[in-house]
Amino acid sequence: MKYEPVIGLEVHAELLTKSKMFCGCEVVDSIAAKPNRYICPVCTGQPGALPVINQKAIELAVRVGLALGCEIHTESIFARKNYFYPDLPKGYQISQYDQPLATNGKIQIETETGIKDVRIRRVHLEEDTGKLSHADGHSFIDYNRSGVPLLEIVTEPDLRSPEEVKVYATKLHAILRYLDVNSGDMEKGVIRFEANISVREEGSDQFNTRTEIKNLNSFRALTQSTEYEIKRQTEIYQSGGTVEQETLGFNEATGKTYSQRGKESAHDYRYFPEPDLPPLIVEQGWIDSIRASLPELPEAKTRRFVEQYELKTQEARLLTAEKALADYFESVVEKSKSSPRTVSSWIAGEFMRHLNDLNIDVTNIPVPAEDLAILIDMVTDKKVSGNSGKVVLSEVFKNGGKPDEIVKEKNLAQVSDEGFIQETITKILNENPKEVEQYLAGKETILQWLMGQVARATRGKADPTLARELLIQSLDNLKQQQNG
Ligand code: ADP
Ligand code: MG
Ligand code: ZN
Repeated sequence: MKYEPVIGLEVHAELLTKSKMFCGCEVVDSIAAKPNRYICPVCTGQPGALPVINQKAIELAVRVGLALGCEIHTESIFARKNYFYPDLPKGYQISQYDQPLATNGKIQIETETGIKDVRIRRVHLEEDTGKLSHADGHSFIDYNRSGVPLLEIVTEPDLRSPEEVKVYATKLHAILRYLDVNSGDMEKGVIRFEANISVREEGSDQFNTRTEIKNLNSFRALTQSTEYEIKRQTEIYQSGGTVEQETLGFNEATGKTYSQRGKESAHDYRYFPEPDLPPLIVEQGWIDSIRASLPELPEAKTRRFVEQYELKTQEARLLTAEKALADYFESVVEKSKSSPRTVSSWIAGEFMRHLNDLNIDVTNIPVPAEDLAILIDMVTDKKVSGNSGKVVLSEVFKNGGKPDEIVKEKNLAQVSDEGFIQETITKILNENPKEVEQYLAGKETILQWLMGQVARATRGKADPTLARELLIQSLDNLKQQQNG
């Protein structure tokens, strides 16, 4: 019997507002800021303190709702979700329940199995909790995060593999960054995932009991835990057992999920409308003006890049995965006389490799677009070889500096002097009679080896097209001499 996974994802994203969801306290970096300095009676749940809705948070939530193709409800309701936990001083979280701000959206994803729509069930607003940490047998609580605006984005159970989960999560992450509503800084916990997972016999349209993995803070944790959980549930069914409805945690060190709470101890949140807040009314005119101000999103940008710059979809998708990278690419193209495809392949290749190696975020690219344009143009103009170009780029990343100056300093200018290259080739052929013999006997791979020798002797500076031509000519001459 074959089993297939059924997965629904809940994503919590902190919104990039200056102040908190229901009070005027500043939203601060949860790692850098001193604990418990940005708090007030409202966000620490003092009796009698009254919440006031942050308009900016609503605006950002509407942006997300619109970008995901949701219906935005002009009236929605905040509710109390009651439960006790030390990071929640009020004893309840203000959230939205049966009347959320936005419903019925979708995100289109593409995986190896094709293109599909993942339906978004709802997008609603709530407030973040404080942050607990444990060390040396003590527990610490920081309420700076308490009351930070949090957006929850919930899918229908439409995902069918860990790959789909990852592609969906990555795309949503990119959209949130494009919209400027979330920093995307996952290490700081500003985006957290919850995966709801069940498995069923392939071909069945029944939904089986699901488990929910809480608090996944990285794409890696999300995919690993999902894979583990699918395997665990599949094995239970295969051995004739039943899956229990549970809330699970994920241990990154062991790669395993573990039970936090069973069905019996599931929370009964006793939701009811928040008595201290009126219904949230958003006017249609405001929604329309927010819609009009939406930026070009990854999907549309990819299509435009394919048309405008004649890129392949794959190339365009890589460049548009992050807005900052897409902007950088366009800026280099504008400043360079090389073709957009040439620029694209430089960025997708060597350039991304350096960013990854040095762990540099695309919002922080240390090479001015103009400098990369100059470097690429030097290669296009054959002033330096492609290989030397790579050396220069690596130098720019390591120590900074202007490409044209590095070429001078390192004496990397390409040599197109036929006489000089021919001289080098003749010398190499004289010094390697055995290899020449093999080539003439039909072993063609020797040509590449000889090209390598030329590159070495000229320290990568010889114009490779010219060098290749001259080398083939010289070898042909030798062949004729041999035959004649
Ligand atoms: P709750 O409101 O209790 O959190 P929901 O029914 O609203 O539960 O679903 C929460 C998430 O779980 C949604 O993303 C949904 O798609 C997903 N989900 C619901 N049923 C299943 C199932 N049988 N298998 C996998 N995911 C599911
Ligand atoms: Mg849930
Ligand atoms: Zn406050």
